[in-house]
Formats: sequence, C-alpha cells, structure tokens
Amino acid sequence: MTIRDEMKKRRTFAIISHPDAGKTTITEKMLLFGNLIRSAGTVKGKKSGKFATSDWMEIEKQRGISVTSSVMNFPYKDYQVNILDTPGHEDFSEDTYRTLTAVDSVVMVIDATKGIEAQTLKLFKVCKMRGIPIFTFINKMDREGREPLELMEEIESTLNIETYPMTWPAGMGKRFLGVFDRHNEQFVQYTGNEEETYIPYDELENHKELTEDATYQEAEDEMLLVDEAGDGFDLEKVMKGDQTPVFFGSALAPFGVETFFNTFIDFAPEPAPRRSTEGIVSPDQEEFSGFIFKIQANMNPQHRDRIAFVRICSGKFERGMNVTLSRTGKTFKLAQSQQFVASSRGTVEEGYAGDIIGIYDPNIYRIGDTIVTGKQNFEYDELPQFPPELFKKVTAKNVMKSKQFKKGLEQLVQEGAIQLFKRYRFEDYIIGAVGELQYEVFEYRMKNEYNVEVELTSIGERIPRWIAEEQVDESMFDERNMLAVDREGFPLVLFKNDFSLRWFKDKHEDIELIDLFEVN
Ligand code: GDP
Repeated sequence: MTIRDEMKKRRTFAIISHPDAGKTTITEKMLLFGNLIRSAGTVKGKKSGKFATSDWMEIEKQRGISVTSSVMNFPYKDYQVNILDTPGHEDFSEDTYRTLTAVDSVVMVIDATKGIEAQTLKLFKVCKMRGIPIFTFINKMDREGREPLELMEEIESTLNIETYPMTWPAGMGKRFLGVFDRHNEQFVQYTGNEEETYIPYDELENHKELTEDATYQEAEDEMLLVDEAGDGFDLEKVMKGDQTPVFFGSALAPFGVETFFNTFIDFAPEPAPRRSTEGIVSPDQEEFSGFIFKIQANMNPQHRDRIAFVRICSGKFERGMNVTLSRTGKTFKLAQSQQFVASSRGTVEEGYAGDIIGIYDPNIYRIGDTIVTGKQNFEYDELPQFPPELFKKVTAKNVMKSKQFKKGLEQLVQEGAIQLFKRYRFEDYIIGAVGELQYEVFEYRMKNEYNVEVELTSIGERIPRWIAEEQVDESMFDERNMLAVDREGFPLVLFKNDFSLRWFKDKHEDIELIDLFEVN
C-alpha cells in the first residue's frame, strides 16, 4: 500500500464531553467494535476513573510510566482508528485542550437529560476556533431526558453551530422505540438486545405494531417538521465545523452507537494538509514530519523518562529513523518509540499521517516542536495557548534556593506545564493553569527535578484581559482586579470574576480590554 492509501484510512479523533455524560462507556463500545477488548466493563479502572485494560496495565508496570490509554488505535472495517483521550474530572488541564490540536475530528457526547454542560462548552469552543469537524452523539436516550427538539435548539443557540439530525429518536426512557436513521433510510429498532434491528423505510408497512404506536407517530411528525424547517445536510459545512451531524442513542444499552459509528467513520475526515513556515505540507508526501503536542513526565522517581507525543502529519514513520528537530537543527535517531494501543504489542514499527506515536524524550523536546526527515526544514504552526482559569502565587519555601527555583520555573513554563505571570512592577510570580492537576504536577516536579519546595497561595479563579501599556494607571487596580504582566512583559488584568470585569468595563469605557483567548 502506498503512503497515500495508508493515510486515507486514518481516522483520528477525540471524544469531548462533560464528566459523566458517557464518554468512557461509548469509547468502550468502540473498542468492542474494533475487537480491542472482549467484554464491556474492562475499560474503566475502578478508582482512577481512567482507561485501563489488563494488558495495558502490564505494559505500564514494565515501563513504569503512566501513559494510560492516552491514545487507542485499532482497525475497523477499512479504517485505522485513532482515539485520543481528553481527560476530564480532576485531570482536566491544558493538555486536554492541546490534544485537540492533534485530531482531525471530534465526537461531542451530550447527556440527553442535561444538555450542554460547562466542560463540553469549553472544549467545543476550542474545536470551533480551530475549525475541527464536530459530530454529536446525544446519549442516555434510555432515560427520560429533555425533548430532542429542545436539545437541538440548545446546541444551535449555545454553541452557535447548525445541527443536522442524522438520526431522530422515537420516544425516550421507557417509551423509547428506536431511531429513524435518515442517512440510511431505515428505522433502527430498540429491542433491548445488544444487536441493532434495522427496518428499511420501504418495509415499515409490514410493522404495524410499530408504526401505529402513538410515540412513533409523534416522532415521525417531528422529523417531518425538522425535514422542512431545518437545515439540509451539508458536508462542506460539517468539514468547516459550521454544522454538526447529530445522532441519538444510549451508550449503556448499547443502542445507536453502531449506527452512529458507521456513519461517523465514513464522513469523518482523513488527515488534512497542515500549515507550516514553508507553506502547506501534504499528508501523503514521501518525507516524514510531525509535531509534539504533549509531553508526559514520569512521576515515578525510579523512572525519570519523559514521553513526547507526536502527531504524524506526513510521510511514513519507521522505527530507528533519523529525524531533525527543526527548532535546533539537530539530527538524531528515534530508536525507541511507542504506540499507545491497549494491546501487548508496545513498540511501533511504522506509522502514517494521523497516527500518534510516543518517543522517549531525553529532555530535549518542547510542546509544539516539529520533527522532520530529509532535507526539509520547517516548523508547523505554533500551538495556541489556552486560557488559564486558576491562579496562584508561587514562592520557594527556602529563599536560599531562589536560583534553582527560577530555573525550574522557567523550564516548566517553557515545557508548557504552566503559564507564568508576574505582579506588575513586583517580582512576585503568579502561575496560571487550566486545572488543579497542573499545580500538583508542578509542585511535584519542582521538588523532584529541581529540589525546590514551593509554596502556592491561591488567588482563585480569574479572568485575564490584556491592556495597552499606555492605558495602565495603577490607581485603578487592586487585589480584586489585579494588575500583572505576562512572560513577554505585556500588562494584563486578572479580574476576580465576571461581575468585576463588567463593572470595570462600564466604569472605564475608554480602556480597551483584550481577550487573547477570544475564540469567536
Ligand atoms: P464519562 O465520565 O463521560 O466517561 O462517563 P461514563 O461513561 O463513566 O458514564 C457515567 C455514568 O453514566 C455511568 O454510571 C454509566 O454507566 C452511565 N451511562 C453511560 N451511558 C449511559 C446511557 O446511555 N444510559 C444510562 N442510563 N446511563 C449511562
């Protein structure tokens, strides 16, 4: 098979959702389709709430490094599927956002009883900003949830994206009969079995017990309404992230997951060309290239390895190949590589655009780095920074250690582990993070890698807004609306909350507040 054939088979995506919407359960069903696991209930580690299969844990034990199913890959039909995990709960961090720079599409799972929730919204915004195609699965239709029409409206108005229902549900909870599969023109009947029963539209007349059910008729009327009043399916819009195909089902039953997955996998995009400093790089070109979107340092002091996650963007990866790190121009051999698949085969021999590989990092890589082969010399677009929400003041417990403290701080910031600010005209350091986990990792690594114990004092959740230097008037700011500077020395205000921000805007209409993370 040619590089082009291999590349065209790749489907690389992430599943985004709010905790408890059913991401793990639906992932597990996908792994079952791919024969990656044999029975349901094996994916979720009881306590950790993370993915784990027994095989996978064995690899972890051997390597002593926690890469717990950050990426799962498996063949399905004619495709090679790569699912990237986007940690939620207490593991939510800037890495969760960065993962979205490495995928070609996204599946958004929504709990039908709850609708759009906070974390879904945050992750969605990043997808929208990057124009990533988004497919929606409305889950938990086996329970009494919100009305489908209402959910569609909420998606459209809250997320500002067109919806196109690929399937339409007949009833919910105890009255749940199944879904109309508009794409394949069939009714998928919910029988309570794991198998999905398909009735082609033109055979429905033989199923009077179904078609004469009031719930069915009501759903059919609704669907006709959607047909007439709703937007038509527009693949071009979907590819730009302006329309989302919507599917209904239950990951737990399971029901509708297979119908969803089969349609999704056909429509989901293959790896796209990417922008670089030397223009557009095509995924099917001969020469290999990729970029690092995540670096995971081992927390176990016995194993100081770090693993850099590389998204392959072009050509063919082969174990042991020589690559050049574009930032430094240095060339070296990638002797050890790892594929993140939940199977016992841990070493990856080859890979193509769309695949994710892990390479051992002897402390030379940074997030956003490009690696290439041959005569190429370019860098992929810089990875964006994402809005930190939690802010803490940080000092070294022992003032004598200020040199190591600064060194550690500088390196961890450069690595993208945290974001660094200073109080305006002071030497006080303030760090910003997306999630609490980042602070834990920061504290741990400062102690173990730089031998510095740090003191962290929370200043709470904050909303950062940049302002022009000439508009800075220190008398306007205090602890509530704290004046700070970023790493480049540009001033910004850390507003206490939305209310303070609005109050300030009203009072100082002449001052322009810039949201560097503005996505719309
Ligand atoms: P995650 O936090 O998004 O990974 O969510 P999980 O997959 O762990 O699911 C959270 C809870 O919802 C678990 O107790 C699941 O069994 C349950 N759940 C997931 N999908 C469904 C569904 O389709 N119907 C019902 N009734 N419960 C579900």
